Amino acid sequence: MIPNSITVTKRFEFEYAHMLPGYDGKCKNLHGHHGVLEVEIGQFLINGAYEGMVIDFRDLKRIVEKYVIDKLDHHYLNDFIPIPTAENMTLKIVEELQIHFGKALKRVRVYETPDSYAEWRA
Ligand SMILES: [Zn+2]
Repeated sequence: MIPNSITVTKRFEFEYAHMLPGYDGKCKNLHGHHGVLEVEIGQFLINGAYEGMVIDFRDLKRIVEKYVIDKLDHHYLNDFIPIPTAENMTLKIVEELQIHFGKALKRVRVYETPDSYAEWRA
């Protein structure tokens, strides 16, 4: 049995466009980002994980790609998120991933640039 202190994280990359309506600065204009998403998982609630694993990285990848990355990659985020700041993107991603991972979802981090990110923690 893996102890609760062990979590696993997978990193994903995607491209997106957005604009921040009403913002006083360059980000009010349509522009693009190379986004990075990190998803951290703790004890998984579904039985069947391979012995010695919190979750199979392959399963983590499949779920996050299907329900998050495929929806965001090369999309205009204002179509789904009215004010697509890194903070609001993070909340939207958490909402989606909690459906699949429940309480096993421990942390979600969305980098808008290499040195700026928003983070949610359980
Ligand atoms: Zn931006």
